[in-house]
Amino acid sequence: MSDDARATRLPLVAGNWKMNLVRWEADSLCRKIRAGLEASGDAAACEVAVFPSFPLIPTAVDALAASGHAVGGQDLHAEEKGAFTGDVSGRQLVDVGATCVLCGHSERRRFHGEGDQLVARKAAAAARAGLKPVVCLGETGEERRGGKTFAVLDRQLEPLEPWPGLTIAYEPVWAIGTGETATPELAGEAHAHLRGRLVERFGAAAADVRILYGGSVTPENSTGLAEVPEIDGALVGGASLDPGRFLGIIVVFAASFRARAARGLL
Ligand code: PEP
Repeated sequence: MSDDARATRLPLVAGNWKMNLVRWEADSLCRKIRAGLEASGDAAACEVAVFPSFPLIPTAVDALAASGHAVGGQDLHAEEKGAFTGDVSGRQLVDVGATCVLCGHSERRRFHGEGDQLVARKAAAAARAGLKPVVCLGETGEERRGGKTFAVLDRQLEPLEPWPGLTIAYEPVWAIGTGETATPELAGEAHAHLRGRLVERFGAAAADVRILYGGSVTPENSTGLAEVPEIDGALVGGASLDPGRFLGIIVVFAASFRARAARGLL
């Protein structure tokens, strides 16, 4: 993919809070993120989203949405309503102010047995409800060592459709929560592969699909990642719970976007 193609996509830095925080902590984190973005002016050069646990969504929406930052769910059910105790529908997420939702995070795939077809059904349900799906995919360490990375990515990508607002998050499972980040070269190779497949599958619509990198992203390692033309932003777990570190990652991606603008690529 050329530098120009990426330049048309504003980067997105998203925080996956997983099963952490209670309301006052979520409120405090959001206020610090908002204040940091207002002070730096980086919101114009990088979109920001947070994905709290369901009970924290209204708190995050109250603290962030007025400033234009997105709040999303960490999962949704593939059906619109019904006898699915403990689950949450896309309509319910929209009702509390969410605008996007993670689908198929590796922790859902691993601990809840979610497969590629179910993940695609969830993403379709999200789109029907008016939510932007952020579909997570990536290989395990064993799959990478076995030389199966691209085959796994192709299999995970296969049932996806060009839903409005679709974002892909490439998250190698061996890099999530481990402190072991993919090198920019390795991540770039996987992103380039995914971009090629998206173009084959979706044609011109592929240009609107952002591909984020996720897996132990920090302010320190994001500089190398943000320089890779195929990487459109980051999905951040652990570091997104620390406002200073999350803002540090946003600053890096915003600076990379501005650098492209300065080179006349926008
Ligand atoms: C994640 O949960 O999506 C993630 C990438 O986590 P971490 O940044 O902690 O590896």
